[in-house]
Amino acid sequence: MSTNHAPGQAVASTSAQPSATSPPVTQDLPEDLLAAGWCKCWSRREKRPYYFNRFTNQSLWEVPTTVQHDSISDPLGLNAAPVGSPRTTDDSAPRKRSSTEEPTAGLKRGRSEDVTPITPVTPAPRICKVTTEAPFASPTSKHKAPLVAFPVFWNLEVPSNVVAREMPPYLLFPPHPEAELCRAQLTARLRQHYQELCQQREGIDAPRESFNRWMLERKVRDRGTDPMLPSDCEPAVSPSMFREILNDIPIRLSRIKHREDAKRQLFKYAEAAKRMIESRNATPDSRKIVKWNVEDTFNWLRKELSATKEDYLERLDHLRQQCGPHLADVAKESVEGICAKLYHLACEYAQRVRSRHLEILRECNLPPDEVDSVTTSCMEERAVPCHPARLRLPEAPLPRVDLHVESEQACLRHRGEVVRVNQNYLAKLEQLYRLNCTDDSRFEKFLPRVWCMLRRYQTMFGLGAHEGLGLHGALPVSVFEALHRHFDVTFECFASPLNCYFAQYCSAFPDTDGYFGSRGTVLDLFPASGSFEVNPPFGEELMNSMVDHFENLLAASTEPLSFVVFVPEWRDPATPALLRMEESCFKRRQLLVLPFEHEYRHGAQHVCRSEELHIRALHGTAILFLQNDAAYARWGPTPERIRALLEAYRPQGRAPQPAGPADGTAGGDEAGGEESTAPSSAGGTTGSIETGGKLSERKESSDDEWV
Ligand code: SAH
Repeated sequence: MSTNHAPGQAVASTSAQPSATSPPVTQDLPEDLLAAGWCKCWSRREKRPYYFNRFTNQSLWEVPTTVQHDSISDPLGLNAAPVGSPRTTDDSAPRKRSSTEEPTAGLKRGRSEDVTPITPVTPAPRICKVTTEAPFASPTSKHKAPLVAFPVFWNLEVPSNVVAREMPPYLLFPPHPEAELCRAQLTARLRQHYQELCQQREGIDAPRESFNRWMLERKVRDRGTDPMLPSDCEPAVSPSMFREILNDIPIRLSRIKHREDAKRQLFKYAEAAKRMIESRNATPDSRKIVKWNVEDTFNWLRKELSATKEDYLERLDHLRQQCGPHLADVAKESVEGICAKLYHLACEYAQRVRSRHLEILRECNLPPDEVDSVTTSCMEERAVPCHPARLRLPEAPLPRVDLHVESEQACLRHRGEVVRVNQNYLAKLEQLYRLNCTDDSRFEKFLPRVWCMLRRYQTMFGLGAHEGLGLHGALPVSVFEALHRHFDVTFECFASPLNCYFAQYCSAFPDTDGYFGSRGTVLDLFPASGSFEVNPPFGEELMNSMVDHFENLLAASTEPLSFVVFVPEWRDPATPALLRMEESCFKRRQLLVLPFEHEYRHGAQHVCRSEELHIRALHGTAILFLQNDAAYARWGPTPERIRALLEAYRPQGRAPQPAGPADGTAGGDEAGGEESTAPSSAGGTTGSIETGGKLSERKESSDDEWV
C-alpha cells in the first residue's frame, strides 16, 4: 500500500489506505481522532508523518481537530469544526482542548480496531455540498471552520411530556442484516405472487398499494413472531385486500381527464363485465341482468355520438351500480382464495425468517433453544416517562457494514446490497441513536442497525416507482413547530426514524426503530398524559383501531391527554374513522384545510432531492382535536391557537408540486408523483373551513378562521 500520497489528495478507495506502520510512527493520537477514523502514517517521499482518515480518505500534514460540539446546544454538531480542520500550531490562537486533556463532549465512542465508521457526515469536502456557507477551508489553512448548514427537518431537542404505562420488551429478534435480507427477498416474492394471483385469477393487476395496506391491516390484528410479515391473525381473508381487489373488478378505473378517456373506459368496462359473466359460474339472473345492461350500454354508445365527458361518466356510474353486485358475487370465492393464499404464504415466509434468525444464533454459538422459552414479562401496571422500545430475544454479533458517500447520499453496503440515505438524515439517525440507544456507546453497531432499518423500510415501501410513498407523507415542519409552540405537542403517534420530527414517536417496527427512539407501535402505547400529533397512514382498519384506542385512553385518564389528528377529507365514500371521530364526545373542534393549496412532505424525504420535498395535496385534510377535559383546559383549540396553526400551513413560497391522484379510484397513471394514499399535511393559503360542530352544521369559516 502506498504511504506517500500527498495530504489533501484523496486516495481512491479504502482498500488503498496507507499503512500506518511503515517507518515507525507512534499511534499517539487521542481516542476521539482514532474513533473518527484518523491514524498517523509515514510519508516516505517527504520523510515525515502525516494523518490519514480511513473513512473519508482525507490526508493532512497537521494533526486534525475533532468535532467538539456541545451536544446540548448543538446536538447535530452543525456548528462544530469539521474533522478535517487542522489543529492550529499557533499557540496564541484559541485552541480546542484535545481529548487527552478532557473527555470529548458529545462523542461517546472510543477506540475499537474494527469499529465501523461512526460519524460519516463529517468529512469536509462532502459536507461542502450541503453547506450554505463558504466552502471549507483547505486542509492547511488556519481560518475558522465555516458553519455546516445541513437542511434539518426535525427538532430532536424537544423533551417528551408523555407519561405512559410501562412497556414490556418486545418478543422480537434484534435486527440482523442477514435475516433482514431474507425477509426482504421473501417479501418481494410475496408481492410477486400477489401480482400473479390477481393476473391469473381475475385478469387484473394487483391494485396499487393494496399489498401495503394489507400489511397495515394485518399488523393491527397480528400476534405473530415477525415484525413485518403477518403470521397469526384472524380471519385469514383480509377485509382490506378483499375490498380492494373487488373494487378493481372487472377492470381498474383510472383517472379520467378527457372525454375520450371516459368513452374508452365505459366501453372497456362493459366488455370486461360481459366477458366475466359469461366465463364464470353466475346465476341465470345475474347473467341476464349484466348482459342486458352491457347491451344497453353498447347501444347507447353507438347512438350518442355527441355525448360529453360527464355523460360518459354518468353512464359508467350507472353501469357499475347495475353490474357491480353481480360481478362481486361471481368473483367473491376466487378473490377470497387470493387473500387466503397470500396470508398462508406470508405465514410460511415469516417462519422461514425466524428459522434464519435461529440459524444465525446457532452459527454464533448462541443457544437458539432458549428463544422458545422466552416469554413476555408481566409488568406491573405503572406509569413512567415514555421510553424507547426494548427487545427481549438474544442478539447475534452484527457483521460489518461499509459506508461510502456518493453526491449527497451516504451508501451503506452489506454483502453487495446497498441502501442509501441523504447525509443530513444519517446525521439525524446518529443523533437519535445517541439519545436512545443504551447498549452501544462506542457506536460499533450503528451502521449495521441503520442498514437493517433502511432495508426494512425499503421492503415495506415496495418495488415500484413511487410505491409506498403515499403512506409516509409528513406534515410540514412549520406545522410541527406550531403544534409544539401552541399545543405543547411533543410526540408523533405515527412515524419512522426517517420522517419523525420529534425524538419521541411510535412507529411500525419496534425492533429496527427502537434504537432510534421508537416507542413501539401506536396500539401498544398506553399514555396517561401528553400532547400528541397523529398523522396515520391511510389504512381503514388501522385508523379504526386507532380511534378505538384513543377513545379508550381518553376515557381512562383524568390527566391532560390530547390528540391532534390529521386525516384526508375523503367523503366518497366517507372514511369510517373520520365519521367516528366527528361523532366522538372528545372532539373539541374540527377544521378542514382545502385541497390544492397545501402541502405535505415527500414520503421518501430521506432520499429524495430537495426540490422534490414538498408536495401539494390534492385532497382536503380534516384536523380534529380529541381531548379530555384536563387537556381541553390546558391545550384547548382557542381561536388564537387555531389561527397560528393554520398560518403555519401557508406554503413557504415554494412552487407547486402536483401530487398524485386524490382518491382511491383515480389511478395516477400519468401523475408520476406520489399517490395521495396517505393522510397528509394540508394547509390552505386561500381557505380553511371551520367544522367545529357536527358535519351537518359545517359552515364556511368566519373571517378570523381564514388563513
Ligand atoms: N411522522 C410524520 C409522517 C407520518 S406517515 C407525521 O406525523 O406527519 C405515517 C407513518 O406511520 C409511517 O412512517 C408509517 O411507517 C408509520 N406507521 C405505520 N404503522 C404504524 C403503527 N402501527 N404504529 C406507528 N406508526 C406506524
